[in-house]
Amino acid sequence: MKKLLLTGVFKPYGVSDEYGEALCSMELLHNQVTREQGINSPRSNNLSFGLYLIAENIEVPSTVLDFPSWKDFTNEVDKGQYSHIGISFIVPNILKAKRMARYIRQHRPEVKIILGGHGVAIPDLKNMIDYDEICYGEGVLWLRKYFGENTDKPIIHPAVRTSVRSFVYGAPIMVKAGTILPGVGCQNSCSFCSTSHKFDRKYTAFLNTGREIFDACCKDEEELGVEDFALMDENFCKSDMRARQLLSEMEKEQKAYTFSAFSSAEAVTQMGVDFLVRMGINFLWIGVESKEDIFEKTKGIDLHALIADLQDHGISVLASLILFLEHHDKKNIHEEIDWAISMKSDLVQFMQLGLSPGTRLYKEYDEQGKLMRDFPWQRRHGQDTIWFNHPNFTLPESSEYLINAFKKKYETHGPGILNMAHTAVKGYIAAKKGMEMREAQGLVWNPQALKYTKKSKAEPDQFMKLRLESMRKSAMKFRPALKTMIKYSPNKEAVQKGRMIIELFNKTFGSATIKERVMSLAVSATAILENLRFKKYGVIMRQPPVLRTIYKDRSRQTVPDHADRKLSKLKTIIEPVNVAASVSLTD
Ligand code: SF4
Repeated sequence: MKKLLLTGVFKPYGVSDEYGEALCSMELLHNQVTREQGINSPRSNNLSFGLYLIAENIEVPSTVLDFPSWKDFTNEVDKGQYSHIGISFIVPNILKAKRMARYIRQHRPEVKIILGGHGVAIPDLKNMIDYDEICYGEGVLWLRKYFGENTDKPIIHPAVRTSVRSFVYGAPIMVKAGTILPGVGCQNSCSFCSTSHKFDRKYTAFLNTGREIFDACCKDEEELGVEDFALMDENFCKSDMRARQLLSEMEKEQKAYTFSAFSSAEAVTQMGVDFLVRMGINFLWIGVESKEDIFEKTKGIDLHALIADLQDHGISVLASLILFLEHHDKKNIHEEIDWAISMKSDLVQFMQLGLSPGTRLYKEYDEQGKLMRDFPWQRRHGQDTIWFNHPNFTLPESSEYLINAFKKKYETHGPGILNMAHTAVKGYIAAKKGMEMREAQGLVWNPQALKYTKKSKAEPDQFMKLRLESMRKSAMKFRPALKTMIKYSPNKEAVQKGRMIIELFNKTFGSATIKERVMSLAVSATAILENLRFKKYGVIMRQPPVLRTIYKDRSRQTVPDHADRKLSKLKTIIEPVNVAASVSLTD
């Protein structure tokens, strides 16, 4: 009988050892966005969403093992229950995947090993890892074909939260979010983009309509108790019709869910800020990439104005910039960094040009002999040194420039979470004012024009009232940490900014309640302890708990309607294992 284990790579993460790198920590923000912000850096580990989606959508009984230790993994293999084991890994985790495959071969030679994830783009993988199959492209379709299952069955969206072990200043982040996986890939096909190339430079939707996304949100709300969602889609705004439908469904059902999303500048511009606010987008990741007008997606767009407009309306922006592009030299790289900082986005990701196997750029650099072919794969993560011959930078220099860019952003604009708190309160003020002004002028939302237009008969905007309340709640998430943000600010400018933001909160929402003051004191206390740990260890790297999720035989599961969701819930057993023992501090 077939039985599948789907596993991520083993812990510890973010630790330099025989198998991994300290600068590849399985944390998105702390690893490459708030990297030099010390105690002000929010921490969390995101789940391996794709594995849950696959397990939910194949008939073969499966188990998902997320964040296993070596012992968790070997114990699972030693049970001897599996006919197939899928290992998902990114390029820098190749040595972990290799060790796992070797263990399976030695101890369970009858098991078929399937490799998946971005790591499978590594050329000549066969000479590095002993495996049976490679899962290319979109995993659900590939595995359905591989196991001879019906490939046309509708996709059932899994209820998966975004992260585990989330905290800031040593205090657990109480507000949780669900993950929505609308689709994979991106048709923009930027030459460096591994996600676009992995999925054949086109977009594949799992959720085709706004209603399907809305239903997935309802399922998460019911099963996980969340109303805030991360839209894990490379370019959510690019599918504009589906986004419009989603807003329309929320309006119809009077549900003001909130979202964070990734979107390219041209797609964001096309949708417009009024639409995005109404839809509940409160965080956008935009690839600004370079000051030079060399990418189609940013051509002709005033990025400074776009980002300011989004922030003024309550949408936090993470702008990502690529360092060590072909044209960079020791003068203009500073201009690039200053340009990115001058956008005043809440957060900036500085990433070295990472030549990822499978991309057009990787092929070009390889053909031109610029690629360092012998450079260790485990060090190719974009947060240490480049791995190609740049005419103007050495490898150690590339590391130094990167660190200094992060430091400069932090010193210029203070902690990222402080900027996000500012954006959230500004957005609430603007939305309230805008709503009152529109009601006075008889303007109503026009879904065709994606703007507010005049209507003969003025109507109260009931949905916007709900939206306003969701924006208030989003802003209030920051309040308990505001005083601590000031205390650990890097300089007097950030302290002044923090004080101004606290005043703005008080003016807008009234003085803090007793409960908020108690929470604020609790964050201050955990921050003192966290700061002591920082001083002692230099780096704090807590390891996430292993999550073991069992998906039983679902061959009779057919339609993703409400009844099936209940069935799916019954069939899914989530076992957090050994949580306490797996939390450890390390350098
Ligand atoms: S727009 Fe973003 S996701 Fe799309 S191809 Fe370009 S970098 Fe990749």
